[in-house]
Amino acid sequence: MYDIIIVGAGTAGLTAAIYGRRAGKSVIVYESETYGGQIINTPEIENYPGIKNVSGYKFATDLYEQVIALGTDFEYDKIVKIEGSFEEGFKLTTEFGKTCEGKTIILACGAKNRHLGLPMEEKLLGRGISYCATCDGAFFKGKNVAVNGGGNTALEDAIYLSGLCNKVYLIHRRDAFRGESALVDIVRQTANIELVLNSTVSELKGEKKLEAITVKDTVTSGERDISVDALFVAIGQVPSNEPFAGLVELDQSGYIVAGEDCKTNVKGIFAAGDGRTKTLRQLTTAASDGAIAAVACCDLILHENQ
Ligand code: NAP
Repeated sequence: MYDIIIVGAGTAGLTAAIYGRRAGKSVIVYESETYGGQIINTPEIENYPGIKNVSGYKFATDLYEQVIALGTDFEYDKIVKIEGSFEEGFKLTTEFGKTCEGKTIILACGAKNRHLGLPMEEKLLGRGISYCATCDGAFFKGKNVAVNGGGNTALEDAIYLSGLCNKVYLIHRRDAFRGESALVDIVRQTANIELVLNSTVSELKGEKKLEAITVKDTVTSGERDISVDALFVAIGQVPSNEPFAGLVELDQSGYIVAGEDCKTNVKGIFAAGDGRTKTLRQLTTAASDGAIAAVACCDLILHENQ
């Protein structure tokens, strides 16, 4: 039986593993996709204390290697069921039918990209529709592309793509951006980024590949087509907590209800990172959650043994 089972290998989960292992606890991390979470697709990180500039890939890989070097067990498998209690021990079942037992659990599954919900969106995925500018931007070198969104991801994507593509249309549903003003300033000063504000994407055109998008003005309701080879959708995230509905309390948007102490309503189960209710979803706060949740697990195990 593991002391701590961590579900999710993003910044929160991997930081929790560091703190758990350094406290001498047996720790296993389960990840259904790749290590690193959302940060692995971020071109540049410039707001993590002590690191002036690093790529998301390097940051995530260094973190993963640190966790493995500390002797953390790691499994690429999806947790689909959690049973038991802190008093009796928890039993987790994976998609492939394997089981694992643990004294405490940290849920750190983060969030996934929100989709537009437009008819051709899934069909054109990988054929002009992308949710990751860092991963797919190079395919559209010298072309005209669009980014949809008004948060830090959309702003960073637009800046990144402006260095690769002929022209970048940045489409946002309001006329004010949610993202940092430092990024907004760069966007406004970049000659080949055209702002398309108060606008939403209402249609995706093209059969075999994306050829154009229809953009709807939210003020006038007028529509126009813009010819682009790619649309990078950066309209936020939705939490990946479906397997835990019915286990721990979720809010209306699907985030695990937990405060800054990362405690859920179930003893022995903690929530860390972007998947829990919180006001600021950042690399720093994900790392902070991981540390808090792991130390809370250690405290619980210690008090049980006293
Ligand atoms: P976000 O901050 O939630 O922004 C999502 C954007 O998409 C908002 O501008 C929102 O518009 C828009 N949007 C949401 N639903 C939409 C819809 N259905 N149709 C059209 N537009 C829609 O998401 P994010 O940019 O991915 O960032 C997520 C978190 O990661 C944030 O906390 C962000 O600060 C953080 N992050 C940080 C960095 C960094 O520090 N370097 C980099 C990337 C992300 P409204 O503004 O009108 O709501």
